[in-house]
Amino acid sequence: MNHFSTQAPQVEAATLPGQPFVAYREGSLHLEKVALSALAQQHGTPLFVYSKAAMLSALAAYQRGFAGRDAQICYAMKANSSLGVLQVFAQAGCGFDIVSGGELERVLAAGGKAEKIIFSGVGKTRAEMRQALAAGIGCFNVESEAELDVLSDIALAMALQAPVSIRVNPNVDPKTHPYISTGLKGNKFGVAHEDALRIYRHAASLKGLQVVGIDCHIGSQITETTPYLDAMDRVLDLVASIEAAGIALAHIDFGGGLGINYNNDTPPEADALWRQLLAKLDARGHSGKKLMIEPGRSLVGNAGVCLTEVLYLKPGEQKNFCIIDAAMNDLPRPAMYQAFHAIVPVVPGSQAPAASYDVVGPVCESGDWIGRDRQLAVSAGDVLAVLSAGAYCMSMASNYNTRGRAAEVLVDGGQAHLIRRRESAADQMRHEQLV
Ligand code: PLP
Repeated sequence: MNHFSTQAPQVEAATLPGQPFVAYREGSLHLEKVALSALAQQHGTPLFVYSKAAMLSALAAYQRGFAGRDAQICYAMKANSSLGVLQVFAQAGCGFDIVSGGELERVLAAGGKAEKIIFSGVGKTRAEMRQALAAGIGCFNVESEAELDVLSDIALAMALQAPVSIRVNPNVDPKTHPYISTGLKGNKFGVAHEDALRIYRHAASLKGLQVVGIDCHIGSQITETTPYLDAMDRVLDLVASIEAAGIALAHIDFGGGLGINYNNDTPPEADALWRQLLAKLDARGHSGKKLMIEPGRSLVGNAGVCLTEVLYLKPGEQKNFCIIDAAMNDLPRPAMYQAFHAIVPVVPGSQAPAASYDVVGPVCESGDWIGRDRQLAVSAGDVLAVLSAGAYCMSMASNYNTRGRAAEVLVDGGQAHLIRRRESAADQMRHEQLV
């Protein structure tokens, strides 16, 4: 028995919910003014395609929220670190939140300014600290007492003072997937709220450091306002006690984490969220402080799609499988977090019978699925678009099964620019040698 049904294929509406720059026109899904069917034909699949307008529109929501304020938006580039994407944010005046020396090199290569870089992460190496100090980055977000000591020594050896902010763990539940909640007591990130004042005093005593701020980041794909408001309260309590101890804080870095609409999720808009957070900040007498934020997903997540071709339809006893040419190495979020990505045909109106499919890739793992129980009317050779694929997809892509990483295109109005060519097997073997 197979599970194909004969119900009529669903023709998608012209625009897709939560995806203002993705729409069906003239028989094909478009990103801005570019037909995705044409891009798939030109560049092959799997192919990531990003909309510059979608990124700038997401950024504009934050900029509206911070109008008239001293605020610095540092794009958390781990969400998508492709040079062409970084260039968009660098040209828009953004700073960057980095977590490695490699990310630092990428920002500089894309035209980002060193003084607008903040360096987060629990495991910065000495070499990375030296590299970042030599580049003149804006701030180190330090995540432990041990790291403070090492950073101070390294800065002193370079006859410098490292600007630091300490990441505090406000112990607030962001109500998101456990793998992407970071501000709880059991997480490896930041220092405990109750230890923060003591650690700030220690930092202020170290000759190689200059304390400039305080930092927190409670998690990712947060769709509620309350965890942010609670974390803000906890951080402002600390600001009061740290400043009462005579340690001035020039900025408050409130991290990133704002969610996007993957599957009828309803996160607050960035400007609405910040209206509430700024009201709290003002009410507690901190309107003069510089604000920093580190958004990643909310700037790029819904700016990207992944195009993939249907290789085979495989009816099964319990399930039908739609086997595509993208896999968990390209789109790791479903395998890692059971995450949902909408999957739609690039050219709708297929005459194929609609059926329920598990959409899976060619990788030799049962965890290699991209969507489960999806109602699709498809045939082999059709191109599908995996939506909301701008964040934590390409930047997490791997070469598992010696699969080359996908190509990437940046769309700007009616123009499409290849920003990364498809990786070949030769590219992958470049650093290996036979003995
Ligand atoms: N800042 C830090 C320290 C992070 O760990 C992360 C991601 O986990 C971000 C910013 C970006 O988060 P998001 O992409 O959810 O905005």
